[in-house]
Amino acid sequence: MKRKIVKQGPSTLMVSLPKRWADRHAIKSGVEIEVEEINGFLMLKPERKKARVSMDVASYNALDEKAIKALEESGAEIEIKCDCSGIMKEKEAMIEGINAKSMVCQRCQKTFMTRMQEEEFRKIKKLNEEVKKIRMIMPKEISKKESKIEVVDSRSFRVYLE
Ligand SMILES: [Zn+2]
Repeated sequence: MKRKIVKQGPSTLMVSLPKRWADRHAIKSGVEIEVEEINGFLMLKPERKKARVSMDVASYNALDEKAIKALEESGAEIEIKCDCSGIMKEKEAMIEGINAKSMVCQRCQKTFMTRMQEEEFRKIKKLNEEVKKIRMIMPKEISKKESKIEVVDSRSFRVYLE
């Protein structure tokens, strides 16, 4: 396709962009675009913006695992917003003696667990209870020996014997 160069000011030349291409890349007046010279050609590189999906805690928990996976695979950034409009970030914290991951508001410190975090927490808690039962049925010689049982994750635990 041919385009006519238009002089704009003393040292600026302008060329119009094909409308269809501009629309496809969401290029409108005021948008910045990368211009690069490669082997004498000028390359116009529209910035590929990551989609950001912003939602509150309730809508996030209403999503099922499939929907969350699809969102993550689309490359979109998922942003969970607190009631105070602060942004929630994943953090590790001790909850009921368990090192658990939860979402913490960066503004008001409000904490909540996503459904998946809650599931993981419940699994670890259950395993902790199982570990306690194992301790009780362990031979006296071993349990006397300051054995230490540590839950690693929701599927495994470690036993240390002195
Ligand atoms: Zn908050």
